[in-house]
Amino acid sequence: MSIINFAVIGYGGMGSYHAHNLIPAESTRVQAVGTYDISGERQQISQGKGLRIYESLEEVLNDGNIEAVLIATPNDSHKEIAIKALRAGKHVVCEKPVAMNTRELDEILAVAEATGNVFMVHQNRRWDPDFLIIRQLYQKKTIGDIFQIESRVQGANGIPGDWRHLRKHGGGMLLDWGVHLLDQLLWLVDSPIKSVQADLSYILGDEVDDGFMSCITFENGVKALVEVGTTNYTKLPRWYVKGLEGTAKIDDWDLSGEIIAATGRKDVPAPAPIQAGVGLTKTMAPPSEEATEKIAFPEPKADFVPFYQNFYEVVREGAEPIVKNHEVRKVMNVIEDIFRVSHKG
Ligand code: NAD
Repeated sequence: MSIINFAVIGYGGMGSYHAHNLIPAESTRVQAVGTYDISGERQQISQGKGLRIYESLEEVLNDGNIEAVLIATPNDSHKEIAIKALRAGKHVVCEKPVAMNTRELDEILAVAEATGNVFMVHQNRRWDPDFLIIRQLYQKKTIGDIFQIESRVQGANGIPGDWRHLRKHGGGMLLDWGVHLLDQLLWLVDSPIKSVQADLSYILGDEVDDGFMSCITFENGVKALVEVGTTNYTKLPRWYVKGLEGTAKIDDWDLSGEIIAATGRKDVPAPAPIQAGVGLTKTMAPPSEEATEKIAFPEPKADFVPFYQNFYEVVREGAEPIVKNHEVRKVMNVIEDIFRVSHKG
């Protein structure tokens, strides 16, 4: 079946990454052929890489050679571009966060439904190796039933770029990194949410959050702490996950870390008290050597195809999307909850 020709709308950091890295790496049946960006400088760079330059969004949408568009513009412009593209008969891949709120998302989804064109959101971190390890531990119960998940990203560089500092463009870290971590969490834990507690941080004095902490409790009893920080000069592990029979820690994207699991042996000596600071403790003493073992991380393999391969199969073969719009909506709902509870106290 024929190749799907894409135009990239917004040839900035992520748009150019799609054009030259993601699309070619993930499917041979999808290709980026042109770009439209409001910045003349970005247009020139894209032309230098052999892509066709469009002078306006309308020119892209009127080109019958273009079957799909990738939207990689600032967050506040996703809705308008998506709706125009869907109405013009194009399929759409949209960068995260899909829109500014669920109301905007619903407007997009109504047009997708009415036109029958595919609309998929690029929640690429479902394919992250660190997440794939945690997903396997959760599903295979390698450390028993997982009951606590801490998922963090922390940096010391503040909020990057320009539009990410501005509320009107959908800036701030909850809509930036928060959407990734929440998407992973809600895809992992298949249970309704019981409660959300949250606190956004404004340490840097911007009009948008520079990070947040949120505690999410699921009806199946799993509790999660999701945290994004941009003022952390030394950081906590990317993942810290507790199961009934072990604990897993992934320090970073280089997959350093460890899993310590209970051996289940009954004949092990009780831990001896240790000196802790100026006191003694048995509770916090390390378990005896026979009580625990270190086990290797599973291979970070996905049991699902890459994003653009899936997109092709959705468009051409009617396959099920891996990133489903109702899942994206659920994440957007939690984001709205976090804004609400954090602002109301
Ligand atoms: P960026 O500022 O580097 O690039 C945005 C580009 O869009 C700029 O070149 C700008 O000139 C252009 N632009 C702005 N308004 C436009 C319009 N109306 N029409 C056409 N072009 C327009 O930003 P970025 O970091 O590439 O982020 C873009 C989007 O990608 C955001 O939604 C962001 O959240 C998302 N993103 C996703 C990931 C991921 O891992 N999935 C990573 C980074 C960014």
